[in-house]
Amino acid sequence: MTDETPREHTDVLLIGGGIASATAARTLREGGFEGRIVLVSRELDAPYHRPPGSKEHLRGEQGQDDALIVPAGWWAENDVDLRIRTSVLSLDAEGRSVKLQTKDELTFDRALVATGAMVRRLNVDGSGLEGIHYVRSLRNSDAIRRDLDGLADGSPIVLVGGSYIGSEVAASLATQGHPVTVVMQEAEPLSRTFGEDVGRWVRARLEGNGVTVRGGVDVASFAAADGSTSEGRVAEVVLADGERIPAALVVAGVGATPDVMLAKRAGLALGETGGVACDDRLRTSAEGIWAAGDVCEYASVLDAHPERLRVEHEEHAAAQGAYVARQWLGEDAPFQEVPYFFSDLADWVALEALGPAIGWDRTALEGSLEDDAFGVWFLAGDEPRGYASFNGGGDLDAARTRLAKAAAA
Ligand SMILES: Cc1cc2nc3c(=O)[nH]c(=O)nc-3n(C[C@H](O)[C@H](O)[C@H](O)COP(=O)(O)OP(=O)(O)OC[C@H]3O[C@@H](n4cnc5c(N)ncnc54)[C@H](O)[C@@H]3O)c2cc1C
Repeated sequence: MTDETPREHTDVLLIGGGIASATAARTLREGGFEGRIVLVSRELDAPYHRPPGSKEHLRGEQGQDDALIVPAGWWAENDVDLRIRTSVLSLDAEGRSVKLQTKDELTFDRALVATGAMVRRLNVDGSGLEGIHYVRSLRNSDAIRRDLDGLADGSPIVLVGGSYIGSEVAASLATQGHPVTVVMQEAEPLSRTFGEDVGRWVRARLEGNGVTVRGGVDVASFAAADGSTSEGRVAEVVLADGERIPAALVVAGVGATPDVMLAKRAGLALGETGGVACDDRLRTSAEGIWAAGDVCEYASVLDAHPERLRVEHEEHAAAQGAYVARQWLGEDAPFQEVPYFFSDLADWVALEALGPAIGWDRTALEGSLEDDAFGVWFLAGDEPRGYASFNGGGDLDAARTRLAKAAAA
C-alpha cells in the first residue's frame, strides 16, 4: 500500500452482504458494541434473504423490500457504514487491511469473511443459450419472471437438478400454471440428502401437483429451435439417454461452491470441503479474522457431527454471524449450534431439518410415509446424525435436544 493513499480504520470489517454479515452487524449493535462497523458488499442491493428467490419472490407474492434483512433505514440509524456495490479486491491478513474497488483502503482490528457461495454452472454444449437461468440473487429470480412474461401460455419449463433449488423452483413455477419437468442425476428429488424412500414421497408430492420428474439421467446438451447449441434461445433439453424434452425456459439448480477467491488470495487456509478452514470458534488461520456462513468450514464439536462441516443454509449462516459477534462482545465458547434448515415446495411440502444428514446408514420413521406428515431420523448404527420433519410431523424440538445433548456428552 502506498504512503499517499489515505487509510481509514474500522474496529470491525464485515466482508460480504448476506445474512451472515448482516446478522453480525445487528448482533453487535444489539449487544451494545459502540465501535466502528463497516460492511462491504459487492451486491447491488442492501442485504436481503435469499430463500424467497425460489419461493414467494419468484411467484411474485413478495417484493425486494419484503426480503430485506433489516429495514432500509436501520444501517444509518445504527451507525453501520454499509457500502454496497463495492468489492473487496484484496485482503492483507497480516497487515489487517483491505483494498476496495473504490480504491479506498481500510485497516481493521477484526474482520469477518462472509463471502458466501456462487452457483455452479452447467458446462455442456448449449449451456450459453438464451433462456437458461440460475438463481442466487433476487435479481436472478426477477429475470426469470421477466423472461416468463414474454412466453406464450403453456410454454414448457425444465428444471435441472433435484435438490432444494430445483424442487422449490419447480413447485413455484408449477403453481403459476406452467408445465414443469424436473431432470436430475439422482433417482428421486431430495434423495441425496434424505435417501430414496423419502425422495419417492417427495416425488409423489411433485407429480401429484402436475410436475413431471425424470430421475437418474444427465443433461447432455441444450439446443435452440434450429438445433444450434451456440446461438439463439433454448428450445430443447437433450438428455444423455437421447430423450429430447421441449423447454422454452430452463432453470438450473446444480449446487453452489464456496466463494473463497478473496480468502485464497489472502493466504487463508482452506478446508477439505473447499471452504475457509476455521476452528471450533470460527477463527480462520489468520489472527483477527473469522469466517461465517456458506463459505465457512468449521470443526464441529457436536457428537452427531464429528467431522468438519460446511453448511449452506440461511439460519445456520445467521447463527454463525451472530456467534462471531457475541465472541467479539466477550463470550468465549465453541460454536455449538445444531444446524437447522427449512425448505418449502409451494404449499405442498414444508420441511424442517436438523443435521446435516450425512454419514447415516439407516432411517427411523416417526409416523409413516403413507401419512402427509412424518418425522425421520437419520442414524449411523444407533447414533443420530440428523432429523427431518415433513409437514410438521414428528417432534423437531425433541430431536434438537437429542442432537444438542450429544454435543455436550
Ligand atoms: C434461491 C435460494 C433459495 C434458498 N432457500 C433456502 C431455504 O429455503 N432454506 C435455507 O436454509 N437456505 C436457503 N438458501 C441458502 C441460503 O440463502 C444461504 O445459505 C445464505 O444466503 C448464506 O448466507 P451467507 O451470508 O453465508 O452468504 P451470501 O448470502 O452468499 O452472501 C455473501 C455475500 O458476499 C458478497 N461478496 C463475495 N465476495 C465479495 C467481495 N470480495 N467483496 C465484497 N462482497 C463480496 C456477495 O456479493 C454476497 O453479498 C437458499 C439460497 C438460494 C440462492
